[in-house]
Amino acid sequence: MIKANNPNLKSWVNVPEGNDFPIQNLPFGIFSTSDRSARPGVAIGEYIIDLQFLSDGGYLEGLSFEKSDFNSSTLNPIINRGKAATSALRNRISELLRYDSTELVQRDEALVSMSDATMHMPIEVGDYTDCYSSEDHARNVGKMFRDPENALLPNWKHMPVAYHGRASSIVVSGTPVKRPHGQLKPADDQPPVYGPSRLLDFELEMAFITHPGKKLGESISTAEAEDYIFGMVIFNDWSARDIQKWEYIPLGPFLGKNFASSISPWVVTLDALDPYRVSGPVQDPAVLPYLEYDGDSHYDLDLEVEIVPPNGQGKIVCRSNFKHMYWNMRQQLAHHTVNGCNIRGGDMIASGTISGPEEGSFGSMLEISWKGTKPVPMPDGTERKFIQDGDTVVMRASKGLIGFGEVSGELKPA
Ligand code: CA
Repeated sequence: MIKANNPNLKSWVNVPEGNDFPIQNLPFGIFSTSDRSARPGVAIGEYIIDLQFLSDGGYLEGLSFEKSDFNSSTLNPIINRGKAATSALRNRISELLRYDSTELVQRDEALVSMSDATMHMPIEVGDYTDCYSSEDHARNVGKMFRDPENALLPNWKHMPVAYHGRASSIVVSGTPVKRPHGQLKPADDQPPVYGPSRLLDFELEMAFITHPGKKLGESISTAEAEDYIFGMVIFNDWSARDIQKWEYIPLGPFLGKNFASSISPWVVTLDALDPYRVSGPVQDPAVLPYLEYDGDSHYDLDLEVEIVPPNGQGKIVCRSNFKHMYWNMRQQLAHHTVNGCNIRGGDMIASGTISGPEEGSFGSMLEISWKGTKPVPMPDGTERKFIQDGDTVVMRASKGLIGFGEVSGELKPA
């Protein structure tokens, strides 16, 4: 077991019961306050420990970092040091925060209350790829738009299908999202029209962030993949269904997707997720050898989505779990690099919509309202087929001792 994950560990920082950030988590983010510029921090309970302060105070010496890595407004310099370095850093922070450690003398200066902090984009995303790895989601979409008897396309069980998305429009939780304009084709027998999307949706996803990979032309195997994954965030892949439907043939998603995706601000390390490994589904037909893997490589993480209208009366519209994925992250990364594609530090690879097998666990309004045929009643008497202007979509992920916090975004009018 990774020492920092010991469930019996306690911190001298008081962590309320049920808080997402006990000492067993220690996720990384970028924060600022009125008197501290944007810099790396680690969440502990309702506080943030300032890594620049720790570094300047000499508390991080002996690790494979330079002071400049902590004097940065993104986590990229830290992530770029590689897995062994970031694992050792998390272990060192765990040591400093242990209940019986007296090493950190300037505790008041090292800690910042989360209520005084603004969270920023944790990384500068290099390249962003979105997979399509939940079988239940792929089947639901196939049933709705193609053939219920042959809901999965022929390639789906042979490879983790994906497309390259847009990195520049990935925003941190709390950033408002504007309803996009585009080409729509409301009637099959009429020409397209220009206007604001009428079918604005969320997609419940998780995304992983990479360490620097190998050189162009080389591949990362499923056995090596975890050495190249730093951590994960919750990912809301905002989707304009009407723009998407008209544009996606033959080259795939474009303007229906790239206007915004929102992520949670705290990057939970793969190390912290280790206790939550579970086995994945039996893959039938058997996968090609480069996609085979050993050991539990899926993760049991409870996920939920809440729609909060402007009046504040929210409703949970989805409860799903990350373990429902057909393809795991190791397979996604092995497939992504099997052709020699190079991965850089700070790349982001999202899972695709995470739907479970039954109603109530579907990860998009497209599925929840079944293309608008089953509106969702809201506490205030209104109903939702898709997302309305002024709605805030909130996604949460947690399991056992740890959690991700949340990603939220308010939809603003076009
Ligand atoms: Ca997606």
